[in-house]
Amino acid sequence: MDRQQEFVLRTIEERDVRFVRLWFTDVVGTLKSVALAPAEVEAAFLEGLGFDGSSIEGLSRIYESDMLLQPDPSTFQILPWRGTEEPTSRMYCDILTPDGEPSASDTRGVLKRTLQKASGMGFTCYTSPEIEFYLLKSNKVGPAGVPEPVDFGGYFDHTPGGVVQDFRRRAVSTLEEVGISVEFSHHETGPGQNEIDLRHADALQTADNIQTFRTVVKEVAISQGIYATFMPKPFTEHAGSGMHTHFSLFEGDTNAFFEAGSEYQLSKTARHFIAGVLKHAPEFTSVTNQYINSYKRLWGGGEAPSYLSWGHNNRSALVRVPLYKPNKMQSARIEYRGIDSAANPYLAYAVILAAGLKGIEEEYPLSPAESEDIAAMTSSERRALGYSALPSSLDEAIRITEDSEFMAEILGEQVFEQFLRNKRDNWKEYRAQVTPYELHKDLGIL
Ligand code: GLN
Ligand code: MG
Ligand code: MG
Ligand code: MG
Repeated sequence: MDRQQEFVLRTIEERDVRFVRLWFTDVVGTLKSVALAPAEVEAAFLEGLGFDGSSIEGLSRIYESDMLLQPDPSTFQILPWRGTEEPTSRMYCDILTPDGEPSASDTRGVLKRTLQKASGMGFTCYTSPEIEFYLLKSNKVGPAGVPEPVDFGGYFDHTPGGVVQDFRRRAVSTLEEVGISVEFSHHETGPGQNEIDLRHADALQTADNIQTFRTVVKEVAISQGIYATFMPKPFTEHAGSGMHTHFSLFEGDTNAFFEAGSEYQLSKTARHFIAGVLKHAPEFTSVTNQYINSYKRLWGGGEAPSYLSWGHNNRSALVRVPLYKPNKMQSARIEYRGIDSAANPYLAYAVILAAGLKGIEEEYPLSPAESEDIAAMTSSERRALGYSALPSSLDEAIRITEDSEFMAEILGEQVFEQFLRNKRDNWKEYRAQVTPYELHKDLGIL
């Protein structure tokens, strides 16, 4: 037993913790949970907790279904929304095979592996996400057949007396109580749409935090009689919900993306990183944008990016270099704007980071920055400037991923196959649907 494990056991006893939830994530990013009695925690630390992996999406094949959960003591946390009497706590887990090896199907493991690769190159990766989501009156559609937002506010609106202000206050304080620092929170452009931005942290911690964040936001919404959705594009006519993420690489205390005096203060390392992300984005978009609905956001306007480009203060760009804060070398970073709020954060961060690292390793050249609105150009202007597009549907995205050696290598054979199988099923199911759109066209309603 190491010191962190002992600390957890002591805390459970001192705080009289009644349940210890073990949390892990399936291939599409759904949080899974099993509650342990406190007396079982020591054994779980020593031997892992056995479970049936074949019942979890994308985890293991039926003939090798026995798996182990290994709780990570550094993630121990009391869950404040379960009350202070007989408190409930949680730990994130790694998934192991019965002989104690990291399971090749664990998406948290995919990110850990990629971070090890970064660290082998001398880098620590920090990330900070801007998470957008909609608050709806309930999980039912209204009389018009579409969801009903809780308000009609817009960007940065102060909505007096609205349920949303209470919601944000409670959500932010609950997040702080579980150790997640919030930098900003505000109303976004869509009705009922909100954004909460987390302070930067190590990429693994950020991915864990995103999973906790989604749970907290859903719980707080329920406690206020409303419903929160991270669906990428719930309304045809309003902006979708992105999860822009800022990335930076540090070598010790030095920000490896910073170089005083160069264009946008970007180092060579940062330029190669951006080039890697742009080159591999079509291959990894099935992961960062994993649902049918994700492509309605990417191609539905509302400041979502559709083309492979980068820019400084350009919100149509896929990669943006945010305004540089003078004298704050630490703040040099790049923002990836493609990813949406429904991605599996472990896989999504692994593939974006891996693409950037590949750009560094192979010294990919970077095209010039774009300052124009790329979406507003004509297609021949875009062609002349050499801008290709992100995939336009899940089907196209899957096909590009299937042919990508880069993706097979980063995800590992098992996750690669299981993820693609799940996505192909999504696409087939969708393709078989006759939608109201088609019917209404024929019936002359549209
Ligand atoms: N909602 C937009 C998106 O989908 C982002 C809007 C913004 O934060 N500028 O990416
Ligand atoms: Mg923002
Ligand atoms: Mg935003
Ligand atoms: Mg942003």
